[in-house]
Amino acid sequence: MPLASAPHSMTGRMRVLLIEDERKVRETLAQDLHAEGHEVEAQATGLAGFERARAAAFDVLILDLGLPDGDGLERLRELRARGSSLPVLALTARDALEDRVAGLDCGADDYLVKPFAFDELLARLRALMRRSRAEPALRLQHADVEADLVARRAFRSGRELGLTAKEFELLELLLRNAGAPVSRKRIAEIVWRQIPRATPLDNVIDVHIAHLRRKLDDPYPLRLIQTVRGIGFQLGEAGP
Ligand code: CA
Repeated sequence: MPLASAPHSMTGRMRVLLIEDERKVRETLAQDLHAEGHEVEAQATGLAGFERARAAAFDVLILDLGLPDGDGLERLRELRARGSSLPVLALTARDALEDRVAGLDCGADDYLVKPFAFDELLARLRALMRRSRAEPALRLQHADVEADLVARRAFRSGRELGLTAKEFELLELLLRNAGAPVSRKRIAEIVWRQIPRATPLDNVIDVHIAHLRRKLDDPYPLRLIQTVRGIGFQLGEAGP
C-alpha cells in the first residue's frame, strides 16, 4: 500500500462496486482504490452494475448519476425498495443540482461533485462506512411492508400485523429476497433449521404461509405473497 499517498489510509478493506461509464474515470478510480488496498469491481453500465449489486455483497456502491443507459436512479430506487441498505455514494456533474436532489431522493447516502480530489472520495467513503457500521440494517422494507428486526414486529401501511415468531421469520426471509422466489427447501432450512433431505415440511410451510397471507395480504387490495409453482413463494413482483 503506498503509504505516502494515503495519509488517511483506512484500516478496513472495502469491497467497492463502481458504476461509471467514462472509461478514464472508471479505470483511474478503480486503480486508486485498489492501491489503497480495497477490492474493486468496476462496471460501465447501470444494467450490468445493478445486476452485480443484487447478486453479490459489497460494502459500498459508487454510482455515477450520468450514465448513458440513464436509469441509474430508477435502479437505485428499486434496490432500496428491495430492502438493500448498501451505502451509496453518488457522483454527479458540476452544477447538476437536480441530479443531486434526485439521487438523494432515490436512496443515495451522499454525493460528490465531479471533478473531485481522490482524498475527498476516500473521506466520504470512510464517513459512509462509519455510518453504516453504526447503523446496521435494523429494518427491512418492501412496498408498504416494514419489519423491525430488533423488536421482531412487522407492519403493513403502518398497521402492526401481529405475527407469531415463525411467521415473522418467514416474512423476514421473503423480505430479504423480495422480487425473487424462495424455495420450500430454503424455507425449511432457514425458518425451521431443517437439514436437507429430511422429511419434507411442505404441509407445515403451507399452513404458515396461509396464516401469514391472512394477516399480511387479506386486508389489503394488493396481494404481495405470490406462489411460484414448483418452487416456493415470492414477495412482490419479479425485478427486471
Ligand atoms: Ca458519466
